[in-house]
Parts: sequence; C-alpha cells; structure tokens
Amino acid sequence: MDAKEKVFNELRKHNVRITKQRRAIIDVLEGRHLTIQEIHSELKKLGYHNLGTVYNNIDFLIEHKIITQIFINGKKHYDLTIDERSHTADSHIHVTCKVNNNIIEINDSQIFDDIKNQPIFKNFDIKKLQIVVEGHCVHYDTELCKRDDACFIKELHKQNGF
Ligand SMILES: [Zn+2]
Ligand SMILES: [Zn+2]
Repeated sequence: MDAKEKVFNELRKHNVRITKQRRAIIDVLEGRHLTIQEIHSELKKLGYHNLGTVYNNIDFLIEHKIITQIFINGKKHYDLTIDERSHTADSHIHVTCKVNNNIIEINDSQIFDDIKNQPIFKNFDIKKLQIVVEGHCVHYDTELCKRDDACFIKELHKQNGF
C-alpha cells in the first residue's frame, strides 16, 4: 500500500471523507508545488468546473495535515506532506531560482535535526519547520536559466536524481 492509501485508510477510520475533488487536489500536487491558480487550472484540465469548493477542500486537507502551505517567491504554494519521496514538507528544503521560478526539494533531514537539537529549543517541541532558499544564479540571465544545464536549479535537480 502506498503512503497515500495509508493516509486515506487512516482518515476513513475517523470518518473523514476523501471526496473526488479532494483526491484530485492531492493528485495534481503529486511531485509539484502549486499556487491556488495553478491548482484551479489543473483541476479544470481534469474536468472539474465547479471550483467554488476548492478553497474549502484545501483548508480541509491542511487541517488534516495532508498538505501544507509554503511561501516561495512571495506566493503561497501548496505542498503534499504525504508524498512518499519527501516524507513531510518539514524535512526537505525548498530551493528556487527567482529567474525561472522553478522549485526543487533537497531532502536533508540532518539540517532540520541540527536546528531542532539546538540548545535554545531544549524545552520546545517544534511542530513545523520550513526552510526556503530563494536566490538566482550568479550569471543572472533569464534566457540562460531557461536553458537546460545553465540553471543551478536544474543542476541540483539532476544531483538529486529526480
Ligand atoms: Zn516540497
Ligand atoms: Zn537559474
């Protein structure tokens, strides 16, 4: 059973309904970080035209810790926390090149553990810890960043084996 099915089973036990649209929102977020507008247009592509309930469903999914919100490049993005590859959004670093807005994830729980284990947090139970790294390539050339291999993000992407 994959990670998603496990979560769904758990929710069903608590009588939480994963409706078709909620399921579709989870599916469109698989492996991606999307803004609300992007979620809307992905859902439309899938044939969902009644989008009035999307906000409510997103709130619902956040409440049940299935997705989380993260500010990247000044925009709110939604990220799956039950994604198998990256376990939780609190255990991977989001890196983005401001030139092309690509977002990639670096899985490095060590960095998060280092922060959590700082003496300053000794008597504090951290529930959420997000790290977003924004920047631009040293060459700072939009056209270059759009090209394969020229953007730092694409290089990182390859190193991470995505
Ligand atoms: Zn992420
Ligand atoms: Zn770049």
